[in-house]
Amino acid sequence: MQIQKPKGTYDLTTKDAYQRTYLENFIRKIFDSYNYKEIRTPTFENTKLFKRSIGEETDIVSKEMYSFNDGEFTLKPEMTAPVIRAYVENRMFNDAPHQKLYYISNMFRRERPQAGRFREFSQFGAESIGSGEEMADAEMILLADAILNEIGLKNFKIRINSIGTIEERSIFIISLREYLIGFEEDLSNDSKRRLVINPLRILDSKDPKDLEILENAPVLYEYLSEDSKKHFESLIELLNSISDKLSIDYKLVRGFDYYTSTTFEFISSAIGSQNALLGGGRYDMLAEHLGAKPTPAIGFAAGFERIEMALKAESAIIPDGSELLLYVCSAGENPRSRILQIITSLRSKGIKCETDFLGRSVKSQMKEADRMKAKYVIVLGDNEIESNSAEIKSMFDGSVIKIEGLDKIINYLKDED
Ligand code: AMP
Repeated sequence: MQIQKPKGTYDLTTKDAYQRTYLENFIRKIFDSYNYKEIRTPTFENTKLFKRSIGEETDIVSKEMYSFNDGEFTLKPEMTAPVIRAYVENRMFNDAPHQKLYYISNMFRRERPQAGRFREFSQFGAESIGSGEEMADAEMILLADAILNEIGLKNFKIRINSIGTIEERSIFIISLREYLIGFEEDLSNDSKRRLVINPLRILDSKDPKDLEILENAPVLYEYLSEDSKKHFESLIELLNSISDKLSIDYKLVRGFDYYTSTTFEFISSAIGSQNALLGGGRYDMLAEHLGAKPTPAIGFAAGFERIEMALKAESAIIPDGSELLLYVCSAGENPRSRILQIITSLRSKGIKCETDFLGRSVKSQMKEADRMKAKYVIVLGDNEIESNSAEIKSMFDGSVIKIEGLDKIINYLKDED
C-alpha cells in the first residue's frame, strides 16, 4: 500500500516551496529593517517549559502536545516560551537591556485538522524583550502590520484589547464565573468545561447561545487599574497611523496563560473560520517565571499557511520561480559539451538557464522552453558551434537577433517584462 503523509501535515512541492522561501526571505528583510535579530532554538524542549509557561489548563498543554520519551520532551507548539528560555539560559540580558528577536520555525500541535489548521505548521514571529513602554507595543503592532501589508494583503483588521495584570484578571475571573454559573445549563459543552478550569476562554466562544449569554457578562476592561488603562489608551494613541484597521474588542482574550496587558489579533476577511492570521500580546511575567529578573516583553506569532490562503484568496501575486531567462536547445550530438560550457558560464554569472536532458527533438525542446516560460531561446547545432554564431529568439515578441561569438550571449539577454 502506498504510504501517505500523516494527517494534518502537508507537502510543499516546487512552486509552493519557492513561494514559501520567497515569503520567508521577504519577511526577514522587514525584520532586519526594524532591527530584529534572528534566534533559533531546538525543535523539542523539556515538556515542563510548556506546562509552566503556556499553562496546564490550556488546550495546547492539556491535549495538543506531541510528547515523547515518557513525556520528558515535547515538539514545540509555539515559540515564545523557547525564546524566553533561551534568553534566560544564554543570559542575553547581559548583551543589551532591550532585545528584539525574530524567528521562523515549524510548530507542532495535535489539533483537529481543518482548513487553516494543521498539526505541523510554520510560524514567523517576533519578541521584544525588556521594555514595558507603550512604544514597544506600538512597534510590535506596526511591524506586524507592515509585514502583512508589504507582502500584499489588504483585507485584514486588527482586534486589540488589554487583559490587565494577573491580579486584575483573577478578580474579574471570579465575577465572570459567578455570572456564568447562573447560565450553566444553557452554556455549550466546551464552555461548561471551561467554567471549571479556565472561564476566561469562554469569552472566545463562537457558540451562538454562549454569545447571547456573554452579552451582559462583566467586562474585563472595567476591572483594570488606572495604570493598565493608561497604558492601553496611550498605545491606541500611538497607533493612530493604522487606526482605520483597529477595533477595540473587550472580549479578546488569548489562549495562553502567560499573556498580560495588551493582546491583539490580525483577522483576515478573505479566508474561512480559521481567520486569525496573527496573534500576540504582552507577557510581562514570563521571563521572571522562567528564572530571570522581572522583564516586561511583547511579541506576536503569525502562521504562514493562513497568510498563504489569504494571499491566494486576494489574488496577490507571489513569484513562484517558474520563469527562466534562457533555454538552450540542442540540435545534434556534437554541441553537447559546448552547450554545457556555455550554460555553466552563464549560470556562474547568475543567469537562470536550462537545456534538454532527454534527447528530445528541437520541436519538443521548443515546447519545453515555452512550458518553462523561457524569455529567450537559442538553438545550437553543429553549424552554430562551428561558426561561433547563432540566433537568439525573444519569446515575448518573437524577434530574432543574430549573435556573433557564443561567449557573448549574456549581452543579448534582458531580464525584464
Ligand atoms: P497562536 O500561537 O495560537 O497564538 O497562533 C498564532 C498564529 O499561528 C495564528 O494566528 C495562526 O496564523 C497560526 N496557527 C496557530 N495554530 C495553527 C495551526 N494549528 N495550523 C496553522 N496555523 C496555526
